[in-house]
Amino acid sequence: MKTRKSAAHSRSTAKQCRFSGSAVRQPKASVGIPRSLLYYHYFPLWKSFFEELGLEVVLSSPTNKKILENGVKKAVDDICLPVKLCFGHVMELADKVDYLFVPRLVSVEEDAFTCPKLIGLPDMLRASLDKIPPLLDTCFDLKAGISPYRSFRELGRKLNRSSRTIRRAFEKAEQRQDEFRKAMQKGLTPSEAMEALKTKNETRLTSAASERKTKNEELRIALIGRPYNLYDGYLNMNLMEKLRQLGSSVITAEMLPSSIMEKEASRWRTEIFWTFGRRMVGAAFHFFNGGEVDGVISCIAFECGPDSLLGVLIEDEAERHKDIPYMSLILDEHSDETGVVTRVEAFLDMIRRKKR
Ligand code: SF4
Repeated sequence: MKTRKSAAHSRSTAKQCRFSGSAVRQPKASVGIPRSLLYYHYFPLWKSFFEELGLEVVLSSPTNKKILENGVKKAVDDICLPVKLCFGHVMELADKVDYLFVPRLVSVEEDAFTCPKLIGLPDMLRASLDKIPPLLDTCFDLKAGISPYRSFRELGRKLNRSSRTIRRAFEKAEQRQDEFRKAMQKGLTPSEAMEALKTKNETRLTSAASERKTKNEELRIALIGRPYNLYDGYLNMNLMEKLRQLGSSVITAEMLPSSIMEKEASRWRTEIFWTFGRRMVGAAFHFFNGGEVDGVISCIAFECGPDSLLGVLIEDEAERHKDIPYMSLILDEHSDETGVVTRVEAFLDMIRRKKR
């Protein structure tokens, strides 16, 4: 990983050598991507696009105590935990890269929005953090008729790339994202799917996933929540790993085809106009209505406006399906691992007793 200082130093060294006649390769510009929020959804797309444009992609570390503490210190008090964590990840990258990629994700579907916090994220970062590298905050807004290609074209132009290079990078990135999505639908988590794409050994990892599933088939638990709540082990106190250790296989919305979630969510009497919230509700409805699971756990961040509403829909559905045990976990920076583990153990014990 290269620091901004060393990048500048290598740039000037490259210049000096050119004058003295020896050829030195120009260092690549680097772009930092925070390992938070929609990283869990779009990282292969973003990474592939930047790499095809010739940039070095630098990812922040997995969430740790320092990242959480920094984020909590710098972000405004009444914001949700995932956004606070994003602040911490940005701070970790700030002096290591030439650019930071924090897109303004307004809508990723024609008929729905993401979340106001995601829309305002680049502004919040600029207002609260000093000395951050230039933010690449390209707007993605399908609802306003801006196609993803148009957004990526704008991004590529900011980086002075030709239309031809941008088009090629975009097509490659879309293909990568498609492979990632398909790998998750085979039962892999985002990090397992990313690893599978990296090593190009999807078959091996997919069979590892099914092997694990068969081994732990004693219980099958559905985890409902935003990807950044479910897959950031530090944020949720290793919930997924804990469930697996306690003899349960885990299934999430990302492992289902989108059509199932869309169909199930449309059963609700009014339209849900948050993309990821709609998927979450659709997945919950599917699991409660014959999704072949022994229990459902929802994992919601404290101070999440959309989920405080959608959580009620999920609870209502749980009430109608008392045969499928349901538990809701609300996470914030003060959540304590022992408390979460005790609740999960008690939940699984209760399911086992019920099955007996
Ligand atoms: S959906 Fe909720 S958790 Fe996610 S960014 Fe918005 S407020 Fe935060």
